[in-house]
Amino acid sequence: MPTRQTIAAVDIGGTKIAVGLIDSDGRVLSRVESPTQADHGYAKALDRTIKMIHELVSTSGQAIDGIGIGSTGPVYPLTGEIGDVNFLPGWQGENPVRDLQQAFHVPVAMENDADAAALAEAGWGAGKNKKRLVYVTVGTGIGSGIILDGRVYRGVDYAHPEIGHHLIDPSGPPCLCGFRGCWESLAAGPAMVSWLESKALPDYSHRANLTAKRICELAREGDALALQAVQRETRYLGLGLANLVTLFTPDAIVLGGSVMKSADLFLDGIRHIICESCRYVPFARTEITLASLGEDTNLIGAARVWHHRFTGGGERAS
Ligand SMILES: [Zn+2]
Repeated sequence: MPTRQTIAAVDIGGTKIAVGLIDSDGRVLSRVESPTQADHGYAKALDRTIKMIHELVSTSGQAIDGIGIGSTGPVYPLTGEIGDVNFLPGWQGENPVRDLQQAFHVPVAMENDADAAALAEAGWGAGKNKKRLVYVTVGTGIGSGIILDGRVYRGVDYAHPEIGHHLIDPSGPPCLCGFRGCWESLAAGPAMVSWLESKALPDYSHRANLTAKRICELAREGDALALQAVQRETRYLGLGLANLVTLFTPDAIVLGGSVMKSADLFLDGIRHIICESCRYVPFARTEITLASLGEDTNLIGAARVWHHRFTGGGERAS
């Protein structure tokens, strides 16, 4: 195996599939993307993915040493199969690891996209040199990955723990996970929107096209209701993160995702809640920090998945 590798990274999301060539330092050399069109079926999406990889390889003139995949989950990283994924209807049991291996004759590895992003931040980003790291992404949902000593933490049967669905308030809104008031149902972007919509008077002038991002902008402009929504969001983010500090006492919690683009609105409040609630653990030693790899964290993560499996002492399927 060469000491420097070029990896084709594949980030499979509900709305788009991104493909990139990533070097051994986690730099994106080139990238391209296309809509997932999940309901047109797996075979067509696989074809498009193969074409995109060929396109990048031929434009760059660079051979690839392997392929890493980060996919919206649940997925089975060690068999390469896709599980029962809400955003990928009809794809259950399909195996992109096997199929891309057959198409390109290089080693292929896959992880859940949050674990992939966690690996990227732990290896090449804000969590570099942290032994115990929890990555949390807050966007349309709340995803997470736990990295211990550079390796993905797995539960029984290699399961991916779903930190985004831990319970915060049993009187909260219902979620498909089975809980009422899990963290995602209270603190993901759509929760901010539905809370504000439920509180806004009929004549509230900003009702159209509300998103978490828009609410944060309105809060900066001084809109009273948006400020309350930010306060509420801060509280729920803070409670969930305080739970992580108490449960794991990690070296760092790295925060990413679209809602965290407005992190400056939340961070002071989050730190205050942690300070007030985590008195039995050395909470001040846990660094709360922002993801540093930017828009391409998931794509870079997909490449890191490959290094984790084949060069970093990560486990192989048995
Ligand atoms: Zn849930």
